[in-house]
Amino acid sequence: MRSEDLTVEVRHALLPALEQSIIAAVLIDEADRILFFNHAAERLWGIACDEVLGQDVRTLVPQAIRASHGGYIRKHRESGTDRVVGMSREILVERKDGGTLLAVFSLSKIDVAGRVHYLALARDVSDEVARREESDVTEERNIRDLQRAVLEAVASDIPLQDVGDFLCRRVEAIAPGVTSSILLVDAAHRLRTWAGPRLPPEYSAALDGVEIGEGVGSCGTAAFRGEAVLVADIETHPLWAPYKQLALPHGLRACSSYPIKRRDGSVAGTFAFYFGEPRGPDAFHERIVDACVHLCMLAIDREESRQQINKLAQFDGLTGLPNRSQLHRHVDCLLAAAPVGEIAFFCIGPDRFKDVNDTFGHAAGDQMLVEVANRLRAPLRPDEFLSRIEGDLFVVVAPGCGVERASLLARQLQLAVGETISVAGVPLGMSVSIGISHCPEGGSDRDALLQNARSAMYRANEAGGGNWLFYSPEMNQIARDRLLLGAALKHAIASDLLQLHYQPQVRLDRGGISGVEALLRWTDPELGDVSPERFISLAEEIGEIDAISQWTLREACRQMAQWRAAGVPVPVMSVNLSPANLRCSGLPEFMAGLLREFGLPGSCLTIEITESLMLDLTPQTQDILGRIRALGAGLSIDDFGMGYSSLSSLASLPVTEIKIDRSFVADCLDEDPERQRRARALVGAMIGIGHSLGLAIVAEGVEDPRQCELLVHLRCPVAQGYLFARPAPPAALQRWLDAWPAGAGVSG
Ligand code: C2E
Ligand code: CA
Ligand code: CA
Repeated sequence: MRSEDLTVEVRHALLPALEQSIIAAVLIDEADRILFFNHAAERLWGIACDEVLGQDVRTLVPQAIRASHGGYIRKHRESGTDRVVGMSREILVERKDGGTLLAVFSLSKIDVAGRVHYLALARDVSDEVARREESDVTEERNIRDLQRAVLEAVASDIPLQDVGDFLCRRVEAIAPGVTSSILLVDAAHRLRTWAGPRLPPEYSAALDGVEIGEGVGSCGTAAFRGEAVLVADIETHPLWAPYKQLALPHGLRACSSYPIKRRDGSVAGTFAFYFGEPRGPDAFHERIVDACVHLCMLAIDREESRQQINKLAQFDGLTGLPNRSQLHRHVDCLLAAAPVGEIAFFCIGPDRFKDVNDTFGHAAGDQMLVEVANRLRAPLRPDEFLSRIEGDLFVVVAPGCGVERASLLARQLQLAVGETISVAGVPLGMSVSIGISHCPEGGSDRDALLQNARSAMYRANEAGGGNWLFYSPEMNQIARDRLLLGAALKHAIASDLLQLHYQPQVRLDRGGISGVEALLRWTDPELGDVSPERFISLAEEIGEIDAISQWTLREACRQMAQWRAAGVPVPVMSVNLSPANLRCSGLPEFMAGLLREFGLPGSCLTIEITESLMLDLTPQTQDILGRIRALGAGLSIDDFGMGYSSLSSLASLPVTEIKIDRSFVADCLDEDPERQRRARALVGAMIGIGHSLGLAIVAEGVEDPRQCELLVHLRCPVAQGYLFARPAPPAALQRWLDAWPAGAGVSG
């Protein structure tokens, strides 16, 4: 309602009403003279109405600002802005008795009988202000306490997770009705739960790993935008549409989330308040947030530097390789295993490194070390551990590494490093000296093993560099022998110096033979006869086993074809293969090609495999065996009964034959009656298993007629051993066959 609409009577009636008001009312005219002063005003200023009526209003203004008051008022009136009017503000009231109090004050311009007047209304708010200040002080103190406590937690060694939980609990203690949550943003821009002890665990788990973005609730959006996102009602807010069903069932209705920012402005995480009812944060909440995002950033900073320090403590800053302390931990771990397997330790030092440093400077030296580190990595298997433990000293630890692999690896490491490197624009030939120690031969003391490898490296270096040496002389001898042997074997394979001998497998039930086993023979012009047990494992190590097996298969097929053409009665040829051969997926095709080439049916070949194949049986090896069987060839489990997995090999492989290991056959005649009894029972059981699965059964290593009698008694169908014939060249086998009774069984 506008004052022009009021009648003069109403205006006159207002003043008496104001007289009774509990709010102080002062009416002044245009010349600032006080025309009206009610009871409440008398109480407020502590001055009687008579004393002020007709006086200038400045008598009511506190002494200190009285002088400037007139000018202040005039300025506003003259500028026409009249900003003093209508303002509701707090003013200081100076009472006549000298006391002061605070009042809220407003001023209205009113028109009385065509003349401008001002009506001031004021109310004492001293108590309210005092109360408000008191609560501000409490809140301020609470926040300060929280800051101090959390800072202490950050500074101590408490894990990040616990610091976050602690912070949330402190916040919740001073801000009732709030559930707080802290999330981190990982390198892949995904939310990671850090803390939120009062949030339901399944809710936190659902948020973990969610990618940040627009519309990913309050936190995902706040992290994405890098600014606060206040959602007063989760139920209806579009940012929560895809996520509200996660929150609402847990009574989470509103969520205000604030980004935690690094100094560079990137978002490290979010700090959020959830409320149980639709609402936003109040001023106190916002003061808490201000404090908390800083605390969170501090805690994150500290965690990140802690991780950095950890990394520095474990890795070499130049090459990024594990350092000495991590090497020690790793070796201790390997040596703690029971049983400790074979482990080889290599100390590797670039030759003439000091010269490079002296000539080209340290930057060039560093560049060279980084290059050496990269090259050393190349020939290593995943479980072989490379570290740099001193300026120019690298250490490789290779578990499960025998003397042969060790010398092979040393050679490979040397080749890997050995290429020219350009240092400061100058191409330099590089070489390394390598010292090797070996566990268990060199004991199982970590420091001694490393020290021994190191002194071997010095000797290798003194001998001119570009060389490797084992610590122990015997080891060097073995390694040298193996190296020579390896070279000789390669030569033998290439120059067709290998031979096959054949050992017949004799039928015990009826006469004749069931087949022959092809066994490799190598007579080296210098080294003499080398047993297949020795050179087969060497061939596996130096990567020649496929070449050997291909040669063997071809020679066996060629011989078989020749016998068939000559009418020599050999029904089946058994060929031994290494488990390593069954990694070669072309093997079945290779065999098929041989069968075609020599015009043989697949059924005249049997492949002998030891059940150590079961150790790394993959779908691929299964497939290869299946395809070999599909050719019609047989599959025999050699040395049956010796390993852990003999029985499971029967279940998982397409087996057609078992060969009972010769140790059981030997034990059947053992002096110890108990041992003898057990061996006989075992042989009987194996024969039983073979029969019940419909497999061919061969007993190996039969040397004594009593073993033969026993096998006949136990219904073993086939036997092989020196009793009947030693492995022999084809011509000798043929002579033996001519003499062997074809018709009748051994037992007659
Ligand atoms: P294996 O497959 O168990 O072969 C049987 C071994 O027992 C042969 O030794 C054979 O000469 C020997 N032997 C035969 N009868 C008797 C006997 O009555 N008493 C005794 N004490 N021994 C007998 P060899 O030829 O020295 O072969 C040793 C191992 O070398 C073979 O064991 C086999 O694992 C491996 N091997 C031989 N030739 C080949 C081959 O061509 N390829 C592959 N991968 N391994 C082969
Ligand atoms: Ca065999
Ligand atoms: Ca065997």
